[in-house]
Amino acid sequence: MRTPIIAGNWKMNKDMQSAKELARGLVSKNARFRDREIILFPPYPFLPAVAGLCQDSRLEVGAQDISEHEAGAFTGEVSAEMVVSTGATWTIAGHSERRNYHLETDEIVNNKVKRALSAGLNVILCVGENLRERERGAAFDVVQRQTERGLAGLDQDAMGHVVLAYEPLWAIGTGKTATPRQAQEIHEFLRWVIQRMFDNATAEDLRILYGGSVKPGNINGLMAQKDIDGALVGGASLDVESFSAIINFEV
Ligand code: PEP
Repeated sequence: MRTPIIAGNWKMNKDMQSAKELARGLVSKNARFRDREIILFPPYPFLPAVAGLCQDSRLEVGAQDISEHEAGAFTGEVSAEMVVSTGATWTIAGHSERRNYHLETDEIVNNKVKRALSAGLNVILCVGENLRERERGAAFDVVQRQTERGLAGLDQDAMGHVVLAYEPLWAIGTGKTATPRQAQEIHEFLRWVIQRMFDNATAEDLRILYGGSVKPGNINGLMAQKDIDGALVGGASLDVESFSAIINFEV
């Protein structure tokens, strides 16, 4: 049985005060869950405060990205070790906004995954096709390539600290969600890719999240799918009520 994960990617939103208010609200509303993991991904400056507020709760905290480098002359970059020192335990790698706006290649993403794991962070690796790729029937090839390259060089043990997120670009921040069936089809395929790369047990244990305009109104349909183990939520994670409603999905 895979424990579901509901993760909130705050992106470049909030200030210190509103970030703390959101974290406090989520901690007090969602203290009772035992059967699901909740992870918050605030911007870097708010990590220590949010990690502190979540410390004695069920909520975990992570960074939205890390540097592929360990330390040194990399102005503006934040290392995995720095993130660990804030009390955060997760990072995202390969979010489509990093791949597109910051030209991150699969190789860079793979370096980030490895850096995160060696610093002791858990990683959510994002994969997903854009609209053009979907329309020309390349969605499966794209997610397979991103997964294989993003996880290259990892062993079964390392995979215990990895979660995949399928985030079709055409559904991110657009209000368009993949149908539960479209998402399930890709998730099932990704599990097969993992089974081929590693083994049956690794594939069975891996949590695969869906991301792309997840809202209180569509989470139940998505979570009813066999291979959807949770959600990576952008816009709807910025508000206590809407994110809590998603966390409260029905099983
Ligand atoms: C995301 O950026 O990871 C995301 C899924 O955003 P949204 O929920 O706003 O589509």
